[in-house]
Amino acid sequence: MDILFEEKQKAVQALNDLKIELHKKGWFPATSGNLSLKVRNNPLIFAVTSSGKDKGKVTHEDILFVDKDAKPIQQTNLKPSAETKIHSKIYQNTDASCVIHIHTVNNNFLSEVFFEKGYVPIKDLEMIKALDIWEENAYIKIPIVKNFFDLDTLAQETEKVITKKVPAVLIRNHGVYVWGKNEFEAKRHVEALEFMFEYMKNLILFKGSLNIW
Ligand SMILES: [Zn+2]
Repeated sequence: MDILFEEKQKAVQALNDLKIELHKKGWFPATSGNLSLKVRNNPLIFAVTSSGKDKGKVTHEDILFVDKDAKPIQQTNLKPSAETKIHSKIYQNTDASCVIHIHTVNNNFLSEVFFEKGYVPIKDLEMIKALDIWEENAYIKIPIVKNFFDLDTLAQETEKVITKKVPAVLIRNHGVYVWGKNEFEAKRHVEALEFMFEYMKNLILFKGSLNIW
């Protein structure tokens, strides 16, 4: 199975651009996080960042192409990120073409304090509209999954909570997965969510209570 050279170049360029933009926000500390972009649907092929690389730099060894099982489709010395299977589950269960995974203090904080509830409740914030949810008194729930050490289990458990309405899943004390129809939409979604996470963390600390709504 192979893909066209042009398709490859386009995906690598788009992912590298996105990677640098998100890196500038400080969203890939200590080489954490990963990004992917779908290239083909049937069978699924997507470009994904390789593991353990500094995402503030662009080299010719940053991105590889994998199939539905997170296996490289061509001979390569690069290792796909260990969490690539989660990206695959998101592509298989949504209409996403781009998936962003980042570790931030704000998303870790909320995944911990709301873990027992099973989701982070977000209400009445203008920024909810940036997720393409246009409802009066909008109320959304971002699901939280336990951070299973075994990555196959983590991918399966993440798959169970994926919904069509909210393009994100939190992993407890780990990070967030966010997706969109293309790289622009995925970026807008992750920016909106991180904005709301920071706001909520501050409000919880200010009020000294999880009952902020
Ligand atoms: Zn991670």
